[in-house]
Amino acid sequence: EWLSNKIAAGEVVERPASVVKELVENAIDAGSTQIEVFLEEAGLAKIQVTDNGSGMDEEDAMKSFARHATSKIVNEHDLFRIRTLGFRGEALASIASVSKIHLKTFDGTSGIDIVLEGGQLKERHAAPSRRGTDMTVSQLFFNTPARLKYMKTIQTELGHTIDLMNRLALCNPDIAFKLMHYDQLLLQTNGRGNVQQVLASIYGIQNAKKMIRFEGASNDYRISGYATLPEVTRASKNYMSIFVNGRWVKHFLAQKAIVDAYHTFLPIERFPIVVLFVEGDPYLTDVNVHPAKHQIRLSKETELMELVQRTIREAIRAVHR
Ligand code: ADP
Ligand code: MG
Repeated sequence: EWLSNKIAAGEVVERPASVVKELVENAIDAGSTQIEVFLEEAGLAKIQVTDNGSGMDEEDAMKSFARHATSKIVNEHDLFRIRTLGFRGEALASIASVSKIHLKTFDGTSGIDIVLEGGQLKERHAAPSRRGTDMTVSQLFFNTPARLKYMKTIQTELGHTIDLMNRLALCNPDIAFKLMHYDQLLLQTNGRGNVQQVLASIYGIQNAKKMIRFEGASNDYRISGYATLPEVTRASKNYMSIFVNGRWVKHFLAQKAIVDAYHTFLPIERFPIVVLFVEGDPYLTDVNVHPAKHQIRLSKETELMELVQRTIREAIRAVHR
């Protein structure tokens, strides 16, 4: 069992950002409105995620580290979860097998405070009395030195976690997120449901002010989002973020449609900051090209690309001459 956890861990736990992803997604699933992430050494030394969600009672908390322990009903149509499908109920078990975990959780009546090392229970303390969950993962990969060796520099690892948290904040504006590296504040959103505030916290207030909202629909798709005025540009395509039914994806055609929308407005080799939310029937969005790399293919792609290009172009034209 320990060995299979460690094998699964190799797939789930690629780097500190993958741990943050699993822990924060659990916190989101638990209905939290406030999620705080504290890192040391970009997460290699310590990842602490504190939420104010449902919490777990003693029994569920003990079970949560067993493989295939999931309390979540899976919607078979939600094919974007395909990536996590194989790992359903395995994330915590996998993370636990390659780290030390301190879990404090309380669901309002029952809770637990435990320490695990490599998945083995080491300490038990009195349960907390604050509703929610506080999970600290430390010494990640302490028992898999090979993996530790492959970790890139602290800045690279931190960059992955910042990108991840930015995306989670953008598609969950109702949740107040905070990301700290030691005492450095890297992201803070207020959870008041205002995407522009999230944009301001990610890209700066001045840039956010120069972003225009767009919205459009075709037969099969609805899109909305924010796009910068052509004067605010970046040298990289990384500032065009695309979410399909609430999931972040890499979609090169959509990036191209966005760039095409700016057509004559953009200098060569400059790109806008754009956040694009696409909504469509899950049956149109079920074609995964490379789930682990977040690449997808969509049905009626041409229709969507035309919609993206037209909507953004018109929004820019309306304010820019
Ligand atoms: P999954 O998320 O696929 O169900 P995980 O291994 O990530 O599997 O988590 C196992 C279970 O632990 C979850 O189904 C959930 O019941 C519980 N759990 C994990 N994190 C939290 C949290 N922050 N708040 C409440 N419950 C949690
Ligand atoms: Mg999970």
